[in-house]
Amino acid sequence: MILDGKALAKKTEVELRERVAQLKSRTGQTPILATILVGGDPASATYVKMKGNACRRVGMDSKREFMPEDTTTEQLLDKIDELNQDENVHGILLQHPVPSQINERLCFDQISIKKDVDGVTCHGFGRMSMGEIAYGSATPAGIMRLLSHYDVSIEGKHAVVVGRSPILGKPMAMMLLAANATVTICHSRTKDLKDHVLRADIVVGAVGKPEFIKGEWIKPGAVIVDAGYHPGGVGDVELEKAVNKCSAYTPVPGGVGPMTIALLMEQTVQAAEKSFSD
Ligand code: NAP
Repeated sequence: MILDGKALAKKTEVELRERVAQLKSRTGQTPILATILVGGDPASATYVKMKGNACRRVGMDSKREFMPEDTTTEQLLDKIDELNQDENVHGILLQHPVPSQINERLCFDQISIKKDVDGVTCHGFGRMSMGEIAYGSATPAGIMRLLSHYDVSIEGKHAVVVGRSPILGKPMAMMLLAANATVTICHSRTKDLKDHVLRADIVVGAVGKPEFIKGEWIKPGAVIVDAGYHPGGVGDVELEKAVNKCSAYTPVPGGVGPMTIALLMEQTVQAAEKSFSD
């Protein structure tokens, strides 16, 4: 079975367009996602543009903030404060990664919890991990939505997450745990990675290395979730060699990527709805 993120993201956007239209007619206001891009990394610029385009598709506005490569932590903190205080801004997205002179964690954590629609703050992560209401980190939240839409059973399954980054691997593991999977988190110091993956009912590739997880490591009937996207249209999993023995997989592209943006949009709409009802 193909876990078609592109199709589900489209369906999600149709629903969001309706919610945004209702909000506008009720309040006369348009939800706004502020995006901050620091520096000129072309991949980051493309991601920010894609998020702005998605805002337009669902009827929201985006407020695009561009800051130069030599921006300091203090300047970025000030910009975030300004957006936190702006009542017209409902969500804030700080595009990762920022240039190395900036303390990214400090800046992420400056985002108000009410506007943390990309789920990047420690506060939001902690709440989510404890089962409290919080906006989830957009990529793992998109993956969970995709698994749920296709009725992939998680409870009691052994999920192996390869990667432990703050925006992907760690929140992914917590979300799978909350869905009652037994979770193994693997990383660069893990010994015998192959043996861990061989035991997985659900494998999440979140390594950032092309086809790093080999097809022969995949257990027959396993579910493959591949968050990677690399030149040549391959992900973190050697999909070609696993596709015939797995029970379901996310295609690359068209799997995890579109769902990340869909969840970012959905969480921004939620934040706007909440701010108008407060
Ligand atoms: P990251 O911050 O670079 O983290 C990579 C993780 O992989 C780290 O935890 C690292 O372990 C682990 N790792 C590195 N080498 C390894 C090895 N040899 N064996 C096992 N684990 C290893 O990357 P990220 O931001 O989480 O992104 C991961 C992938 O997802 C990338 O391909 C990225 O493009 C993709 N991604 C996609 C979306 C989307 O919207 N589709 C969003 C975010 C990310 P250590 O912690 O020990 O260093």
